[in-house]
Amino acid sequence: MKEFDLQSLVRPNIWELKPYSSARDEFTGDEGIFLDANENPFGRKNRYPDPHQRRLKKALSEQRRIPVENIFIGNGSDEVIDLVYRIFCEPGKDRAIICPPTYGMYEVSANIHNVEVVHVPLTPDFELNIDAILSHDARCLFVCSPNNPSGNRLKNVERLLEKFPGIVIVDEAYIDFCSEPSYTERLSRYPNLIVMQTFSKAWALASARVGIAYASTAIIALMDKTKPPYNVSAFNQEEALKALSKPEKQAYRVDVILRERAILENELPKLPLVRRVYPSDANFLLVEVDNADKLYNHLVTRKVIVRNRSSVVRNCLRITVGTPEENRILLEELSNYTQS
Ligand SMILES: *Cc1c(COP(=O)(O)O)cnc(C)c1O
Repeated sequence: MKEFDLQSLVRPNIWELKPYSSARDEFTGDEGIFLDANENPFGRKNRYPDPHQRRLKKALSEQRRIPVENIFIGNGSDEVIDLVYRIFCEPGKDRAIICPPTYGMYEVSANIHNVEVVHVPLTPDFELNIDAILSHDARCLFVCSPNNPSGNRLKNVERLLEKFPGIVIVDEAYIDFCSEPSYTERLSRYPNLIVMQTFSKAWALASARVGIAYASTAIIALMDKTKPPYNVSAFNQEEALKALSKPEKQAYRVDVILRERAILENELPKLPLVRRVYPSDANFLLVEVDNADKLYNHLVTRKVIVRNRSSVVRNCLRITVGTPEENRILLEELSNYTQS
């Protein structure tokens, strides 16, 4: 790729920004009488969390074999998306490319920041339109792989990393359900790459709001200085650490979900009302049916809640893979409905 100049892509106010220096930045030891942060001296939950999430980053670093300096921890992936706009896109001036149908937050966050969105839709079989993407001038490009809501892993991302002149954000929220390797393996090669992951899906911690970005040390340093100082609570850091300490539990759950996904992929097409089940590399299936609105409403009356995506992909429901029992009930309700 061409000479990469990070500074030319960063908003000047962010490049120059002097970060807030917290009490925990100015003294980092564990021992002593702490009278430096105006905390309440009583109680067990009285102290501010580590602003740099050192223990969590170290554990993640060991597990993913990625240096600590290349890891950012956010208050969910939402915070990572928000920071990308803050750092790289001048409101009212710079643009971002999004490839619908995809995750809605890329666009909502752009709108919050008054950043113009260029839509380059995926092809009818949900692949990237590389030439169309490269024909636009933009600071950032959001690519979701495996993609939500289509479920497939996108091909040719590497070509974009080679050719796109701005920052490429590859959202890998569902990577642990996919047999192909993560783009984190390409970090040392592409200084314009940010890989997003999350504790919300395979790690079963959606309630804790812990998102991850992997990128060059320079980009991680920009994210670290731009984020709110105590962006991830001590409780949430603790929960993420606990989850990381039991990788076999995570692997077992992912296995069950993959087995269940295969069952649904096999059984759903047998139902007359199902027209098509799209191939999935994630923990959900995009399913085309005869009449998505009607079926969605019926399932709600049966207390089975799926996501009606017919506004973005015609007559499609997005069905998350549940427990074996939940999936059995789903299939039962669908076949009863067919027969009625
Ligand atoms: C679920 C999901 C996330 C996770 O978001 P969090 O804020 O980390 O919970 C990120 N990206 C996509 C595409 C998702 O579907």
